[in-house]
Amino acid sequence: APRTVLVTGCSSGIGLAVAVRLAQDPQQRYQVIATMRDLRKKEKLEQAAGETLGKTLRIQRLDVCSDSSVAECMENIPGGRVDVLVNNAGVGHVGPVESISVEEMKGIFETNFFGAVRMIKAVLPDMKRRQSGHIVVISSVMGLQGIVFNDVYAASKFAVEGFCESLAVQLLQFNVFVSMVEPGPVNTDFELKLMEEVSRSEFPGTDPATVRYFKDVYLPASHEIFTTLGQSPTAVAEVWARRPAFRTQTNSLYTPLVALKYADPSGDLSVRTYYRLLFNYGTLFHLSMAALRCLTCGCFRRRVTPV
Ligand code: NAD
Repeated sequence: APRTVLVTGCSSGIGLAVAVRLAQDPQQRYQVIATMRDLRKKEKLEQAAGETLGKTLRIQRLDVCSDSSVAECMENIPGGRVDVLVNNAGVGHVGPVESISVEEMKGIFETNFFGAVRMIKAVLPDMKRRQSGHIVVISSVMGLQGIVFNDVYAASKFAVEGFCESLAVQLLQFNVFVSMVEPGPVNTDFELKLMEEVSRSEFPGTDPATVRYFKDVYLPASHEIFTTLGQSPTAVAEVWARRPAFRTQTNSLYTPLVALKYADPSGDLSVRTYYRLLFNYGTLFHLSMAALRCLTCGCFRRRVTPV
């Protein structure tokens, strides 16, 4: 029998791509419940799902921030049985911490951390009882490595990583597996939404030098990283070509940046490298991006591959 997969946040981006990828599985191994907070936004998914709509993919409403919405969604699933949960719903956030209220920070945790936890709690008892299941969380490389001006977003993803790392050990005893998918930059609505929010903000309570670093140094650098290294959501969905490992980074070009952290346990190497990358933006950053572009085109790889 096909396995029931519930995906959160499917109106766009990675969630949409994952739902469609699994629904179009040539061996029809999955019955996908593609969920979204606002059903008025389902058209893009319906179009992408094509013939699978109503067959291997169906759409349901689910807001990961609402207990009642989660309960209602689970009631509409036959037997409440979910074999694979894909926690994808998430919100981004960038900006100087001085300008972000604690309430706003809580909102980010409410979706990225408590939203995932709420979903895991909803499926866990049944998975344990059946001694079978797979919980997947779309985390981020920022769940492993903090990035300047992404303080709160990175913290919310670190929280998810700590939670899952602890839970994974207990769940092995019940034959339930946990995976964290850790994309680098992905070209979805995510960056666009962030840029819109940032363009509206006046950054209250933030000194002019910090606002200048954020707007004139960080934002262009971030944009360049998305342009140079950004993956497509469908490329991220390809992690399902096989069962994702406990930790699965999707972007091999980004992996060296995360590896810095593990290369030097004192942490100085990564902090100082990121500092130099950002504040020597004019030279080092452009050189790094040129080298990465070169790697992307493959000429470097061809040159170093022994004949
Ligand atoms: P996106 O904005 O296209 O998708 C996020 C989805 O989550 C949207 O459909 C949104 O409506 C939904 N969502 C937000 N709050 C929700 C709620 N309360 N209930 C249900 N759905 C809700 O962006 P994306 O890039 O596809 O992001 C998907 C996931 O990937 C997020 O968890 C994000 O943190 C993670 N991620 C994104 C990137 C990137 O660069 N885009 C990189 C690494 C990780």
